[in-house]
Amino acid sequence: MVDSTEQDVTDRVPPEDVFSILGNETRIDIIQALWQAENDHVSFSELRNRAAVADSGRFNYHLGKLIGTFVQREECRYGLTYAGRRIVGAILDGTYTKRAEIDPFEIGSLCSACGSSLEASYESDQFVVRCPNCAETVLRFAFPPGVLDGRPREEFAETASRWIRAQLSFTVNGVCPNCAGVITHSITRESEQHSRAAGLEYDCKRCQHHATTTVGMHLSYHPAVIALYDEHGIDLNEAFLQSYVDNADQCTSVRSENPWRISVSVSLADDELELVVDEELNVVERHRE
Ligand SMILES: [Zn+2]
Ligand SMILES: [Zn+2]
Repeated sequence: MVDSTEQDVTDRVPPEDVFSILGNETRIDIIQALWQAENDHVSFSELRNRAAVADSGRFNYHLGKLIGTFVQREECRYGLTYAGRRIVGAILDGTYTKRAEIDPFEIGSLCSACGSSLEASYESDQFVVRCPNCAETVLRFAFPPGVLDGRPREEFAETASRWIRAQLSFTVNGVCPNCAGVITHSITRESEQHSRAAGLEYDCKRCQHHATTTVGMHLSYHPAVIALYDEHGIDLNEAFLQSYVDNADQCTSVRSENPWRISVSVSLADDELELVVDEELNVVERHRE
């Protein structure tokens, strides 16, 4: 029998203790030196050379502070723990250390309300798509500045498309992209951000992460929808932003509210796929024309 009780996860160290460990330049140097090491684990002397700390006693003291949380020791060799790799990732993606701005540029889609060209920009660590005429925000998504590093400016919209789709896949699969907690969803009849038949709200009960989207977006991860796009030579990962913003190939209607039955039709050329979902967003009907 499957045990349905929650897994037993205990706190290892209070968060204030863990993060205070990082408030020291030498310790950050040690973490970065371990990340740059070619081998997974390096010896004490090699690590000291790489971190460029001349004083052995001082180096030993700071290394000792990192062991158990950010650094692991196996048979006198040192490597990063999962938490240590996450710290390196946070330094590199620029979430805490970088700033970037991209002025508004047209993305080739029109505002459904007024027909003006929609513009995308990067501001306050968010990728934003809005109509410059009626000031309606179509999409707003947190986005680490490091994503822009090392990628051509003209590929920004495609990069954003891939990044947002990857992040949303966690949410769609019930995992919080912020804290790895449990994501729950609720269907709404109308949502403020989306003037569509049915909205979808995702919430994390652990960190209060919240996202507002559509049933159609949720279903864009369904294998049948991905396959339909593929049959038409379209990689939905690349085309996601365009298809989400345009929403021209999608038609959503509420068949009933009690119980919830929501129909989403996806049309590409002469092909139409209709999926009907229930309250749990399980597909209960599927039609192909
Ligand atoms: Zn407009
Ligand atoms: Zn969360």
